[in-house]
Amino acid sequence: MWRMGPLGHTAISTVIGASVWAGTGSPLAGAVAVGVGVAVDIDHLVDYYQWWIRRKPNQILVLFHGWEYSIIGLLLLVFSYYHPIFLAAVAAHLGHVATDHFHNRLSPLGYFITYRAWVRFDAKKIAPGISPERSYKNLPSSFPLRPLWEPWYRRKIEPWIAARVESGPLEDGSYPQI
Ligand SMILES: [Zn+2]
Repeated sequence: MWRMGPLGHTAISTVIGASVWAGTGSPLAGAVAVGVGVAVDIDHLVDYYQWWIRRKPNQILVLFHGWEYSIIGLLLLVFSYYHPIFLAAVAAHLGHVATDHFHNRLSPLGYFITYRAWVRFDAKKIAPGISPERSYKNLPSSFPLRPLWEPWYRRKIEPWIAARVESGPLEDGSYPQI
């Protein structure tokens, strides 16, 4: 599996949320930690759109993924602004990026957004040897209630994406119209 998905992030965020609740006494802060820890992955939708709808598979954006956000959040928490909800958001974001960093096989700097911007979000530099646009094959393993919808996904959605991803460019560099 190329990336840690919602199931894994939900489990880890729940542990972080329980810790935040215990540490701050705020159940709302605990809930925010769980929500933020899962919601960071919403930015994948932009990448999926680029790869599978616009057929531009050569970049990895994931704009919410970046150690920098966590570091800035921690600095603010320590030096200028403390609030239990803000603590929850920073802890959940840090937990998410750390989990992805150690679980997913990107380059060592891949989870720094400044690095990704520096290399112009070039997928070959950020995820060497991986074809992230082919992650549609593993997508069902990342989501819950798989038996309910996976057959439909395999029948209707996967072939459609596969045709767009796998056909490749024509000799003049353009893509065949489907
Ligand atoms: Zn992620």
